[in-house]
Amino acid sequence: MTADNLPATDERLDSVPPSALDPALHQPRRAASMNERLEPQSPIFSVAPEGCLRCGACSSLAPGLIAMGEDAAVIVRQPETVEETTAMYAALYNCPLHVIRKRSVKP
Ligand code: SF4
Repeated sequence: MTADNLPATDERLDSVPPSALDPALHQPRRAASMNERLEPQSPIFSVAPEGCLRCGACSSLAPGLIAMGEDAAVIVRQPETVEETTAMYAALYNCPLHVIRKRSVKP
């Protein structure tokens, strides 16, 4: 909650001067560098092979991470940087059959 008793959304918190916030509760957000290493709890991506068309969209959006196998696309390795994660999400959201899955890993 903020001083005016309204919910503290990110947008509202960004508009409040830092001196008005409890520093123990609000840490300024920092943009991640594209080559920054990911946290250990990063999501794990997989392909459900039974639905794959082998269209190749994913492997062109995430080269080195997804490749075309004999019957379906396969995850070659999990992303290790922000840039690679962005590429993997591009593949996930552009898969025409939505067979690329993401599983969150709890720390
Ligand atoms: S984009 Fe989807 S359907 Fe196309 S090859 Fe990749 S996983 Fe298969």
